[in-house]
Amino acid sequence: MRIQQKLSQLPQVNECLMSPHGQKWLESHYRAIVIRSIREVIDSKRKEILAGADPEITIDAIAAEIEKAIKKHSAYKLRPLINASGVIIHTNLGRAILSDRAIENVVANAGGYSNLEYDISKGKRGKRYSHIKDIIRELTGAEDAIVVNNNAAAVLICLDTFAKGKEVIVSRGELVEIGGSFRIPAVMQASGAVLREVGTTNKTHLSDYENAVCGNTGLLMKVHQSNYKVIGFTEEVPVEKLVKLGKDFNIPVIDDLGSGCLISLEKFRLYGEPTVQEVIRQGADLVTFSGDKLLGGPQAGIIVGKEKLIQEIQKNPMLRALRIDKMTFAALEATFMQYLDEEKALKEIPTIRMLTQPVEVIRKRAGKILASLKKSLSGQADMNIVPDQSRAGGGSLPETDFPTYAVSVKPSGISVNALEERLRLGNPPVIARIQGDVLLVDARTIQDREVRTLVRCVIAAIIN
Ligand SMILES: *Cc1c(COP(=O)(O)O)cnc(C)c1O
Repeated sequence: MRIQQKLSQLPQVNECLMSPHGQKWLESHYRAIVIRSIREVIDSKRKEILAGADPEITIDAIAAEIEKAIKKHSAYKLRPLINASGVIIHTNLGRAILSDRAIENVVANAGGYSNLEYDISKGKRGKRYSHIKDIIRELTGAEDAIVVNNNAAAVLICLDTFAKGKEVIVSRGELVEIGGSFRIPAVMQASGAVLREVGTTNKTHLSDYENAVCGNTGLLMKVHQSNYKVIGFTEEVPVEKLVKLGKDFNIPVIDDLGSGCLISLEKFRLYGEPTVQEVIRQGADLVTFSGDKLLGGPQAGIIVGKEKLIQEIQKNPMLRALRIDKMTFAALEATFMQYLDEEKALKEIPTIRMLTQPVEVIRKRAGKILASLKKSLSGQADMNIVPDQSRAGGGSLPETDFPTYAVSVKPSGISVNALEERLRLGNPPVIARIQGDVLLVDARTIQDREVRTLVRCVIAAIIN
C-alpha cells in the first residue's frame, strides 16, 4: 500500500515540463530530449520504488538527475577526441585532420550559397569539377583531374569506365586488402571487371603481364601495397615498363597509389612513397589516391591522368553517385593550394607536419606535458619521458617507424588499464596506448593547442 501511495506521488512528465526547471530546460535544449530525459528519470524512480526503496521524488529533488540525462542525450555521437596513440593517419580516428586554411574555407562556403556548379563569368551553369582541376594539374603535372568521394570510389569508377566486362591485369603481389572492406578482388567484382592475376606473391615479371594481354584486356593495373611489404627474393614491374607495354597494345595503365604524396619524403629519410608527380612523369595513364591519407586533406578520391580518359570518366553516370560535396571541395582546394609552397605545406598541413616533425620538437612537447602533469600530480603517478616509435598509419609507409617521445604514466592508485579506460571515457576522450605496465601518451600526434586539455584529462583520470 505504501508503495502504491508513493507511486501515485511521482510527478507527471507534463508537471515537470511546466515547472520552472522544465521551462528553463526548454529554453536551451530540444523539446524531445527534455521529455525523454524526464521520462527516463521518472521511470527509474518508479523502478526504485517498486524495488522497495524510498527515494526523494519531488521535481526539485530529481531535477539534477534530469539535467544529467539532458546533457547526455544532447551530446553529439560524433565528437572530437585527442589522439595520443602516435598513429598519424588513424582511420578509426578520422584519418587526416584538416589544416586551419582548409577549415576556414569550409566555414566560408558551408553557411551560404557558392558557385559550386555556377560559372560566375558567364552567368551560367558551370561544372562542379572545374574549380579544382587547374591546381591539381599544376601540382601533379597531369593533363587532367577529377575528384570523387574517396579513393575506393576512384578505383571503382576507373574500373567501371574502362574495364567493365573486360580483364584487368594485376600482379599477385598487389592484391591488397585495406582496412577490411576494400579488397582489390572484391572491388574488381563489384565493378564488373574480371581480375586477371599474374605472377606470384613475391615476383612478377613484365613477361607475366605481356603473356596475359588479350583482345579483352581493359586495363593494366598497379596497386600500391600500402599496408604491407614483400621482402627478400622479390621483383615487381616498374610503372614505366608497364606503360611501354600498355602503349604497344593500346591499353591504359592505372596506378592506385593509395596515399598520394605530393612531397618527396626521402629527404626526411622516409622511403617507399612515390609522389604522384613521379608516377605521372613515368607515364601512368590514370593515377588514383586518397584525399585524407598523406595528402592531409578531407576524405576524397583524386583521379589524375590523361585528358581523354578523364573526359570519359566525366561522362560515366556513376560519377553522380560518387560525387563530392561543397565542403569537401572547399577543404580540398585549400589543402592543394598549400602545396604551392612546400615549406608552408610542411608546417601548416597537420599530417605532413606530424610526419616530418623533428624529434626534438616532439621531445619538447612531451617535456611540456610532463612538467604540467608533475605540477598537479606527485605521489599519484610515476611519470617519465621515454623514446618510442610512432607510425604513419592509413596504409602509408608500412613498417616505417618514426622515432618519437612519449610521456609514460604509471598510476599508483589504479591499474594502467583503468587509467586507459578513464581517459577513453573522458571528455574529450583521450586515446593512448598501454605498453607493459605503463600508459604511453605519444607527443607526436598531440597538437600544441591540445596540450592543456590533455593535461587536464590525465589529471582528472588519475585523481578522480
Ligand atoms: C587506402 C587505399 C585505398 C582506399 O582509399 P579510401 O580513400 O580509403 O577509399 C585504395 N587503394 C589503396 C592502395 C589504398 O592504400
